[in-house]
Amino acid sequence: MSIAENIQNVRTQLPKNVKLICVSKFHSGESILDAYNAGERIFGESRAQELRTKYDSLPKDIEWHFIGHLQKNKVKYIAPFVSLIHSVDSEDLLTEINRYGEKNNRIINVLLQVHIAQEEQKFGFFEQELYDFLEKESLEKYPFVKLRGLMGMATFTEDSTQIEREFASLSGIFQNVKHAYFPTDEAFCELSMGMSDDFPLAVSYGSTMVRVGSLIFGERG
Ligand SMILES: *Cc1c(COP(=O)(O)O)cnc(C)c1O
Repeated sequence: MSIAENIQNVRTQLPKNVKLICVSKFHSGESILDAYNAGERIFGESRAQELRTKYDSLPKDIEWHFIGHLQKNKVKYIAPFVSLIHSVDSEDLLTEINRYGEKNNRIINVLLQVHIAQEEQKFGFFEQELYDFLEKESLEKYPFVKLRGLMGMATFTEDSTQIEREFASLSGIFQNVKHAYFPTDEAFCELSMGMSDDFPLAVSYGSTMVRVGSLIFGERG
């Protein structure tokens, strides 16, 4: 199957109002162009320098999303152009993104990553940490950051009831946060959840952005 056919397959399972983030990490510029020529414009990468290199060499109407764990000292590589950082998992990182937003004179869109998986290695705020953070922090401290929503990753498991439980949980957390802290902010509207193996389930739980890699580009080497 070609990349264009893979995309078509994913698209047929995706409601029109859900954004498709084509996760192109570790794949070549040529593969990205195949997807671009099939009409895709949003691409996700998980390494800052790789993203920077691809941004420099690929069409400028691509909307680049950063989806992986972001180290503070790497923010500078992507701050000038990144459209959305999905994976903000600490106050320190938010502070750094704000600093580089100011340096670049632009407001950087971000999602806060919530830890919903049972695995230890997944990053993100735990539910209560997230509420505590939003409670004590005045977001006015971060004028160069715009909070657009939440992101989460389910446990890597075959057990679909567990994945479903985690998506349901994140969806509930999103509703709580929206209701308590952003009731009139229309820009706080994005829930990034779902990958190749579970995106239809994520959509059924209210995902507005799915991050699909291997189903489009094939397995990473
Ligand atoms: C790699 C990655 C994806 C895509 O995973 P696939 O299973 O290949 O679709 C999605 N989200 C994040 C955060 C990733 O690192």
